[in-house]
Amino acid sequence: MGYTVVNPYNGEVLKKFTPQSNVEVAAALEEAEEFYQEQKKIAVKVRAAKLNHFGAVLLEHREELAREAALNMGKRLSEGRNEIDLCANLAVYYAEHAELLQPKPYSYGEGKTALLEYHSLGIIASVEPWNFPYSQVVRVLAPNYLIGNPVILKHAGIVAGCAELLDQLVQQAGWEKGAFKNLFISHEQVSQIIADKRVQGVALTGSEAAGRTIASAAGKSLIKSTMELGGSDVFAILDDADVKTAVMDATAARLRNAGQVCTSAKRFIVEKKIAAEFIAGIKQSFATQKMGDPLDETTELAPLSSHSAAVELQAQVDAAIENGAHVLVAGGIIEGEGNFFKPIVLTNVKPDNPAYRQEFFGPVAQVFIAEDDEQVIALANDSDFGLAGAVYSADKERAHRVASKIETGQVFINRPSGAHPELPFGGVKNSGYGREMSDLGLYEFTNQKIIVFK
Ligand code: NDP
Repeated sequence: MGYTVVNPYNGEVLKKFTPQSNVEVAAALEEAEEFYQEQKKIAVKVRAAKLNHFGAVLLEHREELAREAALNMGKRLSEGRNEIDLCANLAVYYAEHAELLQPKPYSYGEGKTALLEYHSLGIIASVEPWNFPYSQVVRVLAPNYLIGNPVILKHAGIVAGCAELLDQLVQQAGWEKGAFKNLFISHEQVSQIIADKRVQGVALTGSEAAGRTIASAAGKSLIKSTMELGGSDVFAILDDADVKTAVMDATAARLRNAGQVCTSAKRFIVEKKIAAEFIAGIKQSFATQKMGDPLDETTELAPLSSHSAAVELQAQVDAAIENGAHVLVAGGIIEGEGNFFKPIVLTNVKPDNPAYRQEFFGPVAQVFIAEDDEQVIALANDSDFGLAGAVYSADKERAHRVASKIETGQVFINRPSGAHPELPFGGVKNSGYGREMSDLGLYEFTNQKIIVFK
């Protein structure tokens, strides 16, 4: 398919983009390197002002961006607007936190001083997925622009229209040539970029398979990488939780973006005392989602991003059932126009079922019943992933105790997981390593250099 935009609602081919040649890749690297060298002489506050302006440009084009995402990968308009707001907030957050790059004093020995300076590193390659076609990019772009690291983007083929639009808006915001470049390139060309000695870092958001390949390439070049990979997040409902709220939030947490979110709640673990009430609520809410065109404001559940995504998800569900899963809410792929997939809830997924360890990237939930908090924690941690999670309880301390024992990069209490510019985002285990957003995300691709005074 390459870089082709196909409307997920009706299968119409909307745009095709010509892949870039090696000569164009070489020119992009050259321009990026010039930006890097030039910006070493420019004060951070100059880029901070331009970053702030980029935030305003994104908001001016909010509707156009949201519409493009709907047509590229099926995101509902309201969700697209939220994503643009997050991008603008990220730009403004880093613009307003330029002081994080100021040198930090240290002391050593007896009264001796040192100074930690933050320097730019060089070109950063950013390889991004289709599910949040703008914010995945801006999470890398905003902090690196502030630092003075140029970013070269390889986006997912199906959201080529979003990638092109973002590139145009960066130019419209008046950023310097070479600061950011979207390239329509092959996996092989990505490897060539990572091998170029001017490239000093690679940030990937994507699948575990892509993570293994790209992290290996980065390792071979001895450059820093951040890996934001998949997840099978837990949504734990302790027996003193408000069940109605938990049902409402669990439904939203599993079905937003048609279930195609790395930090979606994929495994609901509910304690025995309230399990029947929770299951009844989930059955009702999953079975009554209004499916439709992502451009229709009344649509609750949009189609999946591509036909192949729907087919792969159905195959995973079929294998789960063949291996003993019970169906609480029946659904699945809907034949005909559009990549529609009716939500499914499974239970009785045992450890010997392949589904127990897999990520389901679409509207499929699994329900587990736990005897007590200890079993909640044990089930939560019996996973190869470790991205995020949520714990619901009327007792904040109890929820905190459970949250602290869950092996992930983030846990949310009495609210579904989400992304916030001020908070670090990232995982452990097969969910990857490194952090995006917040001060931690800013420092990932800096040379943290210590100047030591006698
Ligand atoms: P993929 O890993 O297939 O693709 C992600 C990006 O990597 C795309 O641009 C893709 O390009 C590129 N890519 C894949 N393999 C290679 C390779 N060998 N060399 C160079 N580039 C490569 O993931 P999906 O697009 O299917 O996204 C879904 C996955 O991403 C899920 O597992 C999800 O959990 C994870 N994800 C993680 C998030 C996080 O923050 N932790 C957030 C969102 C999603 P192309 O399209 O051309 O193949």
